Amino acid sequence: MSIAVALFTRDLRVHDNPVLAAAARGGEVVPLFVLDEQILERKPLSANRIRFLLTALAELDTELRDRGGRLVVRRGDVGAEVARVVAEVGARTVHIASDVSRYSALRAERLRDGLSQHGCELREHSGTVTVVAPGALVPSSGAAHFAVFTPYFRRWLETPLRAVLAAPNTLTVPEIESRALPEPTELCAKPGSPRLSVGGESTGRKLVRRWLSGPVDDYATRSDDLAADATSHLSPYLHFGCLSATELVHRTDLSADGGHAFARQLAWRDFNHQLLAARPDLAWSNLRRGPVQPRTDPHAFDAWREGRTGYPVIDAAMRQLLAEGWMPGRARLIAASFLTKNLRIDWRIGADHFLRWLVDADIANNQLNWQWAAGTGTDTRPNRVLNPLRQAERNDPGGDYARRWLPELNTLSGNAIHRPWRAPLLAPDYPPPIVEVNGM
Ligand SMILES: Cc1cc2nc3c(=O)[nH]c(=O)nc-3n(C[C@H](O)[C@H](O)[C@H](O)COP(=O)(O)OP(=O)(O)OC[C@H]3O[C@@H](n4cnc5c(N)ncnc54)[C@H](O)[C@@H]3O)c2cc1C
Repeated sequence: MSIAVALFTRDLRVHDNPVLAAAARGGEVVPLFVLDEQILERKPLSANRIRFLLTALAELDTELRDRGGRLVVRRGDVGAEVARVVAEVGARTVHIASDVSRYSALRAERLRDGLSQHGCELREHSGTVTVVAPGALVPSSGAAHFAVFTPYFRRWLETPLRAVLAAPNTLTVPEIESRALPEPTELCAKPGSPRLSVGGESTGRKLVRRWLSGPVDDYATRSDDLAADATSHLSPYLHFGCLSATELVHRTDLSADGGHAFARQLAWRDFNHQLLAARPDLAWSNLRRGPVQPRTDPHAFDAWREGRTGYPVIDAAMRQLLAEGWMPGRARLIAASFLTKNLRIDWRIGADHFLRWLVDADIANNQLNWQWAAGTGTDTRPNRVLNPLRQAERNDPGGDYARRWLPELNTLSGNAIHRPWRAPLLAPDYPPPIVEVNGM
């Protein structure tokens, strides 16, 4: 009987996991996760993502144990640790999910070279992280990747979905040493967000059941309603691969308006991944020249990141980010547009702050959404500026979202909260607007 290694990365699940399914097919399997020192040494490390990662690993271990297996945890240099495990059990194959960042491409290259010296093969599985593999769809113009979403989405909808893979019924793991999972503070001393949602595959699957049993039906009409909080909240589970995006699409009714609109967002995720896979430099370089020349203003940046700009919808969003490590998509867009277009601060500075705090942050979605908002990316109308007052009136018409996060403004009722400068006596502790916008 042969032994294979399933090297988990951003695919922390047993359901619909091509990596685990392929590794378990041949016989014994080592379900392996390496706490990668190269990532752990990055400064600053995201306390929120570390905490989520550790709970996701604990849930993965439980899922594996339910099937007779367990998670093998190692810590150190990924190449060296995987080579050690391969030598200890005599594995002939290591399976891993293909991913799109420059770091993951280098990791795969190093693993392939290192393992070949042990007579072991690295097999990458492309349909693990995204629904449609990056590079599988190319425009008829002959370009290497899509840079406009609408034609990409048309093709994405026509692409046949691979079948969902059942979780393995039983797993046989050879005798091999494993480390205990560390406490979050062992990896990152900072406490992170007080109201962070945590969990892994089983928590994520419960959320999906609830989401698809009704709330998704209203997604097309309510996803931008900030107070209603009517989006799925699945992003961290998708980021860490506790959920399979392919399985989600299978289970979503694409013929219904809500289901179609929801799948469209999953296609945005794929779109960003295919772009970053083709252009890893876009993590930090502009796709195109932006409409404004960025300036340096540490005072304005501090006000933005601390939620003190004087615009309640922006400040609510930025305080939610610190408190929960998460924000609704519409709030991210308004906050990013404000930083880059109103305050004219470079998108990379805002993106870096999001990377620090967002529990779902990934290089593809974060950086490319920031570029979209800044007008340096794939927005077909790069000059558009989202007026924070109009956005607030449209997406928080009753002011409840702003009131939820700004207790010092709770004496302002209805949408009067969005213009606190008109009632200065009712908001004595709230700062004046940091910059002027139309409609004040
Ligand atoms: C400036 C900015 C930064 C962002 N950074 C990230 C990030 O680091 N990680 C991340 O996953 N998303 C990011 N997004 C995209 C989006 O805002 C979040 O995915 C979404 O708000 C998460 O909430 P949800 O799970 O309730 O999403 P839902 O609205 O329920 O959407 C379902 C899923 O679709 C995907 N999705 C939704 N919108 C987008 C989008 N615009 N681009 C790509 N995928 C999308 C996500 O996986 C999400 O979980 C960013 C958006 C902006 C404007």
